[in-house]
Amino acid sequence: MSILPPAVLTTTQLLGGLVASAKNAVDLAKASSDHALKGAVSELYDSLLDVKARVLDLDEENRGLKAELARKDEFVGPTEPHGYFFFKERLDQPLCPKCLQSQPSNPVFMSPLSQRFAGTMRECLVCKWQNFETRNQPSSPRTTRRRSFNSLRSQGD
Ligand SMILES: [Zn+2]
Repeated sequence: MSILPPAVLTTTQLLGGLVASAKNAVDLAKASSDHALKGAVSELYDSLLDVKARVLDLDEENRGLKAELARKDEFVGPTEPHGYFFFKERLDQPLCPKCLQSQPSNPVFMSPLSQRFAGTMRECLVCKWQNFETRNQPSSPRTTRRRSFNSLRSQGD
């Protein structure tokens, strides 16, 4: 006999075998004149069908989670000091942490570092998240600038 050990069978195959056995029991019970037995076997069969549906749902969910887990293994992060994630094979290309940690997860590369007035920054072109990696020191203190702005306004009044 070539019966596969249970570990080799898929969940669907295992359930299929179980349901077939139960169906056989239902058919055998039909020939019996024992009504209590017929009822009990039939109830058992219905419960088994419910369990089968539930197990198939869980099996599918489990497969999805395993795939997600395998995908998570592709990334490193969040890394200091900017909180970026990276593909393990592309540690020079930061990924947007907001997009990667959203549901469903979306790996998006941050823009190259660009020079702005306020400093150097990267931007996510999908969710528009911006991160300044360096800040330029303001050439004059802000209080001075605000004072001169206010004095200009009072002159106009
Ligand atoms: Zn993003």
